[in-house]
Amino acid sequence: NVITNHMPTDELQRLDAAHHMHPFTDGADLAKTGARVITGADGVTLTDSNGHKILDAMSGLWCVNIGYGRRELAEAASRQMMELPYYNTFFQTTHVPAIALASKLAELAPRDLNHVFYAGGGSEANDTNIRLVRHYWMQKGQPERNIIISRKNAYHGSTLGGGSLGGMSGMQTQGVPVIPGIHHIDQPDWWSEGGDMSPHDFGLERARQLEKAIEELGAHRVAAFIAEPVQGAGGVIVPPDSYWPEIQRICDEHGILLIADEVICGFGRTGHWFGSQHYDIRPHIMTIAKGLSSGYAPIGGSLVCDEVAEVVNGAGDFNHGYTYSGHPVACAVALENLRILEEEKIIDRVAAETAPYLAEKWQGLTDHPLVGEAKIVGMMGSIALTPHKDSRAAFAAEAGTVGLHCRTRCFANGLVMRHVGDRMIIAPPLVITKDEIDTLIERAVTSLDETY
Ligand code: PLP
Repeated sequence: NVITNHMPTDELQRLDAAHHMHPFTDGADLAKTGARVITGADGVTLTDSNGHKILDAMSGLWCVNIGYGRRELAEAASRQMMELPYYNTFFQTTHVPAIALASKLAELAPRDLNHVFYAGGGSEANDTNIRLVRHYWMQKGQPERNIIISRKNAYHGSTLGGGSLGGMSGMQTQGVPVIPGIHHIDQPDWWSEGGDMSPHDFGLERARQLEKAIEELGAHRVAAFIAEPVQGAGGVIVPPDSYWPEIQRICDEHGILLIADEVICGFGRTGHWFGSQHYDIRPHIMTIAKGLSSGYAPIGGSLVCDEVAEVVNGAGDFNHGYTYSGHPVACAVALENLRILEEEKIIDRVAAETAPYLAEKWQGLTDHPLVGEAKIVGMMGSIALTPHKDSRAAFAAEAGTVGLHCRTRCFANGLVMRHVGDRMIIAPPLVITKDEIDTLIERAVTSLDETY
């Protein structure tokens, strides 16, 4: 039997539940409800197996930055598959797509992040980063500098390394504890954790937790600090303005490597090429994935500064690599994606036109009785749902129940918004138009009304 888009939805769902184990999903629950079957997409709009059109305000999983349906990327993949579908980059070989993409990334990246180590996605790249920074400090004659400081409620991937760097407790249960040498500090989430402090003072207090941790652990033992410029999967937690300058000062003063995990923030999401530019952060390493290929092909990597790359390159074999490091088809697709982002000035348009337009509408959601704070940077935003705006109270029901209900209403109203606990989040494709933003907001308000 050939399985196609034309099969009845319930039959597709039955086969899916019988044979497909889904990530981050309750399998028993799914078997009861059936997964939504997405059959096509164009621009910012998905089509499901029942023919419904849905505005995808999450860009898939924060990745389809240039929108769906761009033929140029399919053609780039096809050309590359015909010419050289695969070759590895191990053992002193390379190929043109890997060279061309690395050169382009060096041109686009800030400061002297001139080197890329390729991976299949963001989790793998963060595993690379663990090896890179520990190897770097060993080569510098400081092998005891092996602790990486990260933050609670951060997301850095699902591999054992990425899941350990991340600070989501759910990632560190089910028999897989944090690997040794990772230390977590608190996140800069003023809404939920700021108490009576002003956002400014709270941002400083949370940044200074890094300094306190360095002092307690011993600066000579701390290799690096890793963070997302804006926490994405944690709920689009936009840090207070005081936070990043203080983090940068602390990393500089203590000689700690700074790793910016740009898997979500990179490639235009904040209205700059990289979130580090939005916050004027100077990382030694950046994790990239998702928007690098707009999700059209799986690819990620670590962008590495001259100093770290020189030390690692000068120290014999680096015992690390993935079969698909620098996959030629993925590299060709990513290059074409970067060409489109650049030539069509998509990021400039976000910064000048659509992000300010979206920001104004998004802030307007705070007029709704359910919405406490609304936060947005470029094309990533969140609203905190609350029964009581002034006290910033949580709902009496189990955390996430109201958010889940709102997400379900959104989907019924033709809108993909995600919930993280009782925060609703968006990260639409960067090509979303003002009219589509109006539709997004209208559907969000309808869904909030139905949740209230
Ligand atoms: N880092 C961040 C900040 C992410 O948001 C993600 C995925 O959402 C990852 C790493 C993991 O990337 P991947 O799912 O491509 O392995």
